[in-house]
Amino acid sequence: MPTSPQDILRDIFGFDSFRGRQAEIIAHVTGGGEALVLMPTGGGKSLCYQIPALCRTGMGVVVSPLIALMRDQVEALKQLGVRAAALNSTLENGEAGRLIDQMQSGKIDLLYIAPERLLMDSTLNLLDKCKLSLFAIDEAHCVSQWGHDFRPEYLQLAILHERFPNVPRVALTATADVPTRGEIVKKLKLESGRVFISSFDRPNIRYHVTPKIKPREQILRFLKEDHAGESGIIYCLSRAKVEETATWLARQGYHALPYHAGLSPQVRARNQDAFIKDEGVIVVATIAFGMGIDKPDVRFVIHMNMPKSIEAYYQETGRAGRDGLPSEALLLYGIDDVAKLGSMIENGEADAQRKQLERRKLDSLIGYCSSPRCRRQVLLDYFGETLAEPCGNCDLCLHPVPTFDGTVAAQKALSCVFRTGQRFGAVHLTDVLVGADTERVKQFNHDQLPTYGIGKDFTRAQWRDIFRQLVVHGLLVTDMEGHGGLRLGPDARCRPVLRGEQKVTLREDATFALKQETKRNRAAAPGGPHGKPTLEKADDEKLFQTLRALRLTIAKTQNVPPYVIFHDTTLIALAKARPQTLDTMATLPGLGTAKLTRYGQAFLDAIKGYGR
Ligand code: ADP
Ligand code: ZN
Repeated sequence: MPTSPQDILRDIFGFDSFRGRQAEIIAHVTGGGEALVLMPTGGGKSLCYQIPALCRTGMGVVVSPLIALMRDQVEALKQLGVRAAALNSTLENGEAGRLIDQMQSGKIDLLYIAPERLLMDSTLNLLDKCKLSLFAIDEAHCVSQWGHDFRPEYLQLAILHERFPNVPRVALTATADVPTRGEIVKKLKLESGRVFISSFDRPNIRYHVTPKIKPREQILRFLKEDHAGESGIIYCLSRAKVEETATWLARQGYHALPYHAGLSPQVRARNQDAFIKDEGVIVVATIAFGMGIDKPDVRFVIHMNMPKSIEAYYQETGRAGRDGLPSEALLLYGIDDVAKLGSMIENGEADAQRKQLERRKLDSLIGYCSSPRCRRQVLLDYFGETLAEPCGNCDLCLHPVPTFDGTVAAQKALSCVFRTGQRFGAVHLTDVLVGADTERVKQFNHDQLPTYGIGKDFTRAQWRDIFRQLVVHGLLVTDMEGHGGLRLGPDARCRPVLRGEQKVTLREDATFALKQETKRNRAAAPGGPHGKPTLEKADDEKLFQTLRALRLTIAKTQNVPPYVIFHDTTLIALAKARPQTLDTMATLPGLGTAKLTRYGQAFLDAIKGYGR
């Protein structure tokens, strides 16, 4: 059994070098230090406790909130030849007894367990009788009462410290915000541990935000041109929309499945299982989907509606590309989303302070959508990180949008809304601004207003677009109860604009977004279809598909997800390098000793047919 972290990384996991701060964290924890590890999804948190647990003597105990997550991780470790197990209620009686024996006789390297099980007296007593190497507390943000994943049992994990003072603890999370960090340290009594913060950037995710004009056309184009045959998630706001979209996609020939709280548990489990175990499945879901899914090869995440906050958006888009391969996030936003979310907050149960907070969060997201600045810079800014240069991998970096000073246009539009009584929609308001001679204009004497005809410098289409952008900027609000009339946004927002104290920057291209987008996607994919820019030769792509099929067959016979056998990164490396011997194969990523022994020959045979 190798013992140095570097040996374990190479021989068991099949990787050459540590990533980011992994080496530092692993050295610290292996030496018996405690730590809080903050790393984005896909950053490689698991190795930060798995390798120390293997280096130290005794069994590592991993606290994980969801049984489904545990199952996958245990399976993946077993495939690597690591003695891993999960202690939970799904074990048959005999199995549990056997596992307990193994634990006591030092035959388990890593034990996965849910907090409520861990905290039972019987479990704690059992652990007293085992030699323990460390405690890893995964998804540690679950201690936060303000977060969306709060788990009361997590609060009680502080007792581990008192009960097992000599067993080091490492807490891990992908939640970026600063207050949650403090809460984790305090609630888990981790004050003496070191905090390791990695950048929360997800460089392999390409962010793409665009007005929702013809959503179906936009989605089809996105899928067809850049994501054929790939797995992804499409988030919708309502169950009805989920059903409708999934049915429509299936009719277009996609393997699309719905997922929402209104489906029976059996159907939900079946659809989730298909997503995990088959290739190229698209799940159309409400936000209830995704938590507890560790699928590394989700290649795209689409939002059909605006999420509630940047945190939610970042978490949901973060489910793409855990394996580090190029992935894409597409957000389609419409002004009715803004209105709907706004009135959901207004009419919600929360107290005034909470409502204000929610409104601010929504505003930040609106700002993200409408800002002409690099998406990644805006996102990282929000999480208190600075990205000095524009990222080069978002829609705005790849295709900067022209903007113009829309202050005067905004003033005209706002004053037109105000003078017509804050109850008309964009069509009529445009008529007034361009000085049209319609029935309605005459009926309400709007041709007598000072704003009548003051907007002739823009076309009707441009005014429609300006109104839409002003809603997105929060300067106008759509009235959802009435007939969709527009009224002024909050005073604090509108007044500085009307007084000319604040500039309004508008995007020029928005009216033409749909047309532009075609060009945009194509031009944005250097060296081939977006999902696999690493496979440029058609022949490599063909071999990749062959290897993918072989992987799926092996996975099906073992009833495990394909990525538990090999990640796409490994298949891509195989397709490019085409090794002819097991020795050369061993140099590729993800091919440790156990996997080489198990699957090496089968993949060599598949590659042989392709020559060099
Ligand atoms: P997280 O738990 O932070 O979301 P994981 O631990 O699941 O991330 O790791 C994400 C992916 O990165 C996995 O596919 C993992 O195998 C891979 N990975 C982690 N560390 C390394 C490394 N040092 N070299 C290569 N791949 C790595
Ligand atoms: Zn950018």
